[in-house]
Amino acid sequence: MKARIVFLGTSSGVPTAERNHPSVFVEFGGRRLLFDCGEGTQRQMMRAGLSLYKTDAVFLSHLHADHWLGIGGLYATAKFFGRREPLLVLGPRGIRDICGFFAPNKKSRLTIKTHDLRTGVAYDGGTFIVRAFPLEHGIPCYGFVLEEKCGTRLDKTKLRRYGLLNNPLCRELKEKGRVRVGTKTVTMAQVSSSKASGFKLCYITDSRPTARITKECAGADVLVCESTFAEDRMREARDYGHMTAREAATLAGKARAKRLFLVHFSPRYKDPGVLEKEARAIFPQARAARDLMEVKV
Ligand SMILES: [Zn+2]
Ligand SMILES: [Zn+2]
Repeated sequence: MKARIVFLGTSSGVPTAERNHPSVFVEFGGRRLLFDCGEGTQRQMMRAGLSLYKTDAVFLSHLHADHWLGIGGLYATAKFFGRREPLLVLGPRGIRDICGFFAPNKKSRLTIKTHDLRTGVAYDGGTFIVRAFPLEHGIPCYGFVLEEKCGTRLDKTKLRRYGLLNNPLCRELKEKGRVRVGTKTVTMAQVSSSKASGFKLCYITDSRPTARITKECAGADVLVCESTFAEDRMREARDYGHMTAREAATLAGKARAKRLFLVHFSPRYKDPGVLEKEARAIFPQARAARDLMEVKV
């Protein structure tokens, strides 16, 4: 299955003229997810042509305001547009109070459903799960691993058996997990290989590098990782619980990730190219994400 990733905000702390507060949109298995939701996220979604209406879940890494201030706007606009399905927001303990402020009325047309994160599976997306695990940032903070469920990679021989090889219906199958072919319903399990390991995407911010992160991100197809500072600001990185570009690249290398996208740049760097260059010296596939940059993997 393919993932669509849109980097909505790549700044840290305060936004800049070029960069918004943190947020990454991921579409996978027919679900639309947001990882962090900094101030201005809804406007970035509009600029990227993404529907506010259809967000399935919002994952908040931690409760530093720049990572969640966008929830209020996202909620208000989705409500204005007539969304009825509750907005699901997952975050560390305390998220209920924040969301309760924005959506205090349980009888409102649109409610916010909150879920306190703990280590382990936080969300089941049908064909994939999202796991949460603790990061090292001074306050409770979680990293996320989106993992395609084992056995959901399509098998060509099985697809042919059900008349689905090169069939446009495959798109529906990937999105919904099942599809009607003639008079029969074919499920994902019937046409997937159990041997193949599934797609894996990790979202890591904010944190110092840890052995746990390396372990959790092992073999990731995509690692989205904070890279707040360049190496000359190592002391700040240590003091404030962040990573340098070099540390993010080292982590990606140790975890044997396939691709690394750097995010969460300090406003002191007008052009994050300097961080990309530093990371590439260690991990050549590193790329500094830009606001509204879209990748399909
Ligand atoms: Zn941050
Ligand atoms: Zn933070």
